[in-house]
Parts: sequence; structure tokens; C-alpha cells
Amino acid sequence: MQKMQLSNYIQFHVGNQSYLFHGLTGNILALDETAADFVAFVQKHGESSGDSWIFDPEKYVSKMDTTEKYQKMLKEFMDLEILQYVEESEGRRFSLTPPSPALTENMPVKTLVIHLVNECNLRCTYCYAGDGEYGAPQKYLSKEVAEQAVHFLMENSGEETSVTLVLFGGEPFLNWDVLKHLVEYSTEQGKKWGKKVQYSLTTNGTLLSPARIKFLNQYSVGVSVSMDGTKEAHDKNRFFAGGQGSYDQVNKNVNRLIEGHQSAPVGTRVTVTKGFEKIEASLQHLLSKGFYEVGFAPVTEPDTNLMLNDRDLQELLRQFEEIADLYVENAIHNRYLGFSNMTNLLKELHMGTNKAYGCGAGLGFFAVSPDGGLYLCHRFNEDERFKLGDIYSGVHRQKQKEMLSELHVDRKESCKTCALKHICSGGCYYEAMERQGDYRKPNAHYCNWMHEWITIGLKTYVRILEHNPDFLDRIAGIDKERCVSN
Ligand code: SF4
Ligand code: SF4
Repeated sequence: MQKMQLSNYIQFHVGNQSYLFHGLTGNILALDETAADFVAFVQKHGESSGDSWIFDPEKYVSKMDTTEKYQKMLKEFMDLEILQYVEESEGRRFSLTPPSPALTENMPVKTLVIHLVNECNLRCTYCYAGDGEYGAPQKYLSKEVAEQAVHFLMENSGEETSVTLVLFGGEPFLNWDVLKHLVEYSTEQGKKWGKKVQYSLTTNGTLLSPARIKFLNQYSVGVSVSMDGTKEAHDKNRFFAGGQGSYDQVNKNVNRLIEGHQSAPVGTRVTVTKGFEKIEASLQHLLSKGFYEVGFAPVTEPDTNLMLNDRDLQELLRQFEEIADLYVENAIHNRYLGFSNMTNLLKELHMGTNKAYGCGAGLGFFAVSPDGGLYLCHRFNEDERFKLGDIYSGVHRQKQKEMLSELHVDRKESCKTCALKHICSGGCYYEAMERQGDYRKPNAHYCNWMHEWITIGLKTYVRILEHNPDFLDRIAGIDKERCVSN
């Protein structure tokens, strides 16, 4: 008899209840005794391979329950592709994985990350953009190119009634006149085209003046300030060209920003490097300033002095888990703890994410360089290999199609059978290039970490669901933090 496998799930427990997260649909199944016994039985007697358990049904299942209830459970698992014959599963796509887009011609462009300048006034140790320049000569976006980018977005966003401009750099305030013009011009064009233009901006926070804050408030620009926690942690890696730390200046500006900007959320993002300060200390420090939420991202640059090793990553996870407990306590009492890593994950779990790509780069999301080139995303800015056209001649559809086809999760061998294939989908392409040497490879260095982090998220989700399900509906309405780190 053919061998069978139990796969496409993550099992977790909350109290005495056992659950399966069904990776293909994103559903969470509470297991009854029959199903829990079956899973335990297979896991005890089968052989594990990645996220799968392979077993011989003749040897095991025949010894088990033959009741109708039991057969019904087996059928349900088979329908969900949790239980299947090994031979049948080999080399085939799971029917629930979204395919690679066959036609990209009419794919609407919804978001542009605009590089206002490829220059920065800080010299952060971990900057992936080489002091903001992306390896290219210093360039400033002109008003003409900015206007053309707006036309490109209006013309290429199809039926979309809401589009987004992400104001990015280098440090975008180094090109303030153009930034201002871009926002005013696109708002005006949005009205003509019947589209709402939303704005978000990523800044190092050093150049925020009262007039600029007033402008951001007037146009409801969502702001993300890069800060690394307390003064000590921040000044360790984020300093001016002369070497002095930037914390004092950023702190002064942030106080003004939070006071003067109420029309859109103001968040912050922490880059986590080796020897990081206690995550809770950074979180509480930044939330006490009035930031709406704080996101933490391990540094991507493969520099051993900065990069987190496996031990550091485990410690980060342990600290995230502590904050998850705090998050639950707050959520049960209808309070929002602005730990955006958890909010974003809970949102994905609540909405039942089913994606075939690590992110939206190259789908409806492109970066625009100061001279109008269109790139896979902001991290690939100025890298010709990832140029997918320009704002004058449009998206190079054939190249886009080829790139999307090679980035699809089903092209990533180890992801094909991973239970997280529809929620992680191989991860960030830039990080894969840095850490795995090829942007098309899965982020294999963090698979275990991802499994553990998602499990923490699943437990958090169920605990909140049990006590305050409305909270999950409310956070589902919060705009997900975009992947735009500075
Ligand atoms: S990269 Fe993500 S989807 Fe791929 S195997 Fe690792 S955890 Fe799974
Ligand atoms: S996840 Fe990676 S590839 Fe995707 S937009 Fe962010 S930096 Fe770019």
C-alpha cells in the first residue's frame, strides 16, 4: 500500500486544547479528541520530514478506529490536503496555491515608493543603501520627474480608486521642495482622476521642522521615523557624518511631530543589531514618546559585527514571546499595545492570508528612482538587474512576468511542502540575495525562526479570540505597516 503523509499544518496548544493551523487556507482548526488522537498517533509512529509526517497507513491506520466519525475526520483532512498519498503529492501543485499571474499586461500599479533623493545626512552603520546613495552618483528627483511619476500612477492604476505614494530616500526631506510639490500635485491629480492618494513617509527624523510637520498633518501623511530605542541604543548605530549621535535631534523633532501631527498614524521602526537592548525597554521607551506603534526588524546587512546569529535570534524570539503576553493582557482589556510585528501577524491570521509571493514587490508595487526608473522595490533601487521599466515607457511586462514566475513560491523547492508557504512564501527577495546569494532562493536561514514566530502569533490569536474577538476585527482595519525601512 502507498505511504501517506500528514502535512500543510502547524500544530499548537492553548491550555489543553490542540489546534492545527492549516497552511493552505490560513484556517485554524480546533481538534476534537478523534482528530487530536490521530495526529498524535501519526507523529508518534511516522517519520518526520520538514513539516510532514510520512507513515504507512496499512501498518497504522488499520489498527485504528474504523467508526464513521473517524472516517469523516480522515476525509476532511484529505479534502484539506492535510492528509494525502505521498506519490500523489509529489511534483504537483497544491490546488489552493494561487498561480503565477499569466498576464501582467493589465495588472494595476497601486503603490509607488518614490526615491526623492539618493543621499542621506546620517551615516548609520547598517545602511543597506550605502549612505542612501545605492551605489549610484548622487541624484535628486526633479519636479518634472515627480509629475511624470504621478501621471504614470494615475494611468496605470486601472480601476483602483485608492493609490499610495511612499515618500522615501535616502532622507526624503533633503529634497523638501520636490516632496511638497509631489504631494500637492498628486492630490490635485487624484481629484481629476477620481482616485484617493494616500501618503506615507519614512524619515530619519533629523530634518523635521514645524512647517514640515504642519504640511504632513495637512495631507494626512503616515509617518515612520527610524529610531532604535533609548538614546544609548540609538546612538550606537545612527549618527551624523561627523560621528555624533542623532538621538537628541530626532527626539526633539519627534516630540514636536507627535504633538503637531494628528491626522495620520506616526510609528517608528527599530533595526535590531547584535547586542540589542531589551526589546521591551525599546518598546516602552518609544511608546512613551507617543508613537502609535513600534516595529522591530533584524538588520539585513551580512556584517558579522551587526548581524544576529542563531543564538541572538532565539533570544529575540524569547523576548517577542514575553511581549506577546503583554499584548494579550492589553487586548483582553480593549487596549492596544503598539507592537506592530504582532499586529501585522494577527491581521494576516485574521484575514486568512493566502499568498504565493514573499511580498508585493513587482506585483502592484514598484520603486521609482530619481531619474524615473522602475525597480522591483526600494531595496533594489539603481540595480539594473531589477529594473522593470521606467515611468515614461511603462512597466517592461515581459521582464515582470518572467521575474514573477521565478519568484513564485512553487519555484522554491523547500517552500513547496512548508506549512508556511502561503504566509511566508519564501520571504524577502532582498534578504535572500544578501544571505542566500540569490534573490530567488527561500530565506532558509530563518525558516525555524519563522515557524516559532508564527506559532507564537497563533497562540496569541487564539487567546485573544477566546476573550475579546472584537479586538481582532478592529486591528484588521489598521493599515499594515509597509515594508519601507530606512
Ligand atoms: S522560507 Fe518560509 S515558506 Fe520557505 S521553507 Fe522557509 S519558512 Fe517555509
Ligand atoms: S520584503 Fe524585501 S523584496 Fe519585498 S518590498 Fe520589502 S525589501 Fe523589497
